[in-house]
Amino acid sequence: MKIIDIITSDKPSLSFEVFPPKTSTSYENVKAATEEIAKLSPSYMSVTYGAGGGTSDYTVSIAENLKKLGTTPLAHLSCVSSTHEDVKNMLLKMKEHGIENVLALRGDIPQDGKEYPTDYHYAYELVKEIRSFGGFCVGGACYPETHPESESAAKDIEYLKIKADSGCEFFTTQMFFDNDILYNFLYRILKADINVPIVAGIMPVTNAKQIKRICAISGNSLPQRFLRIVDKYADKPEALMQAGIAFATEQAIDLYANGINAVHIYSMNNPLVAAAIKENVSNIIA
Ligand code: FAD
Repeated sequence: MKIIDIITSDKPSLSFEVFPPKTSTSYENVKAATEEIAKLSPSYMSVTYGAGGGTSDYTVSIAENLKKLGTTPLAHLSCVSSTHEDVKNMLLKMKEHGIENVLALRGDIPQDGKEYPTDYHYAYELVKEIRSFGGFCVGGACYPETHPESESAAKDIEYLKIKADSGCEFFTTQMFFDNDILYNFLYRILKADINVPIVAGIMPVTNAKQIKRICAISGNSLPQRFLRIVDKYADKPEALMQAGIAFATEQAIDLYANGINAVHIYSMNNPLVAAAIKENVSNIIA
């Protein structure tokens, strides 16, 4: 099934993101975690992409396995360190394995000092290429708090419009912890004549150090009231998990109540977190 049909139907959607293993030794554990999450019957599941080597192949194999279990997969694909040939081969592989949905990303620019191909500079080039390859529903990323490399919020939206006009059918947001940030962003993109559906990405915080690191890299802000919870329960994992789930649930309910029909949970391969959120909104999305 195509993601665009899922997120534009009248039924509210709830989807989960998982990431593939980095090494073959953790493959079975990761696969088992994604299977547990699939048992929750999410609207779809996205599988992230780590460029290069076996990691990128695991995206396809995890996505293919989810499809076999009856869950629609959305495979991520980044391009910044790939050649046109690499991308074409990956798309052929995805097609061969019955994957119909791709999240087209630039990816983070490698900082390891090595030489990488420069066939792609921005995600919109990949979007165009996938659309002309044909057969895939293509999504992309957007940043309610502005992409950290962007020269300004206005420029970021100007470039988002190019990505939409290149054939991006929907956007999934970077995580945010204050829904007003998303509502403000939606207003600004509408003004820029960007009319593609937006999937709201939410991360239930379960690890204090990790979330502070992610926010420092991505430029995300943590509201004061949530920072206090994170600090207070930083050394009590069960308490932080409970608080993180409650906070994310509250965000999701507010989004659904305000007409955002598609909510995506950055579930970090954690079936317990995914199950708790699903349970907490079960009547709302029924
Ligand atoms: P782009 O849309 O290309 O934007 C990158 C920067 O370039 C922005 O600052 C933008 O304003 C600017 N820009 C865009 N177009 C132009 C233009 N035409 N001219 C000048 N400037 C321009 N990374 C992974 O490696 N694997 C994943 O699986 C993954 N999944 C993600 C999922 C989501 C929902 C999100 C939000 C991010 C994900 N990322 C992933 C991270 C992402 O790859 C990085 O944030 C990356 O830095 C930007 O990717 P992009 O596709 O948004 O890039």
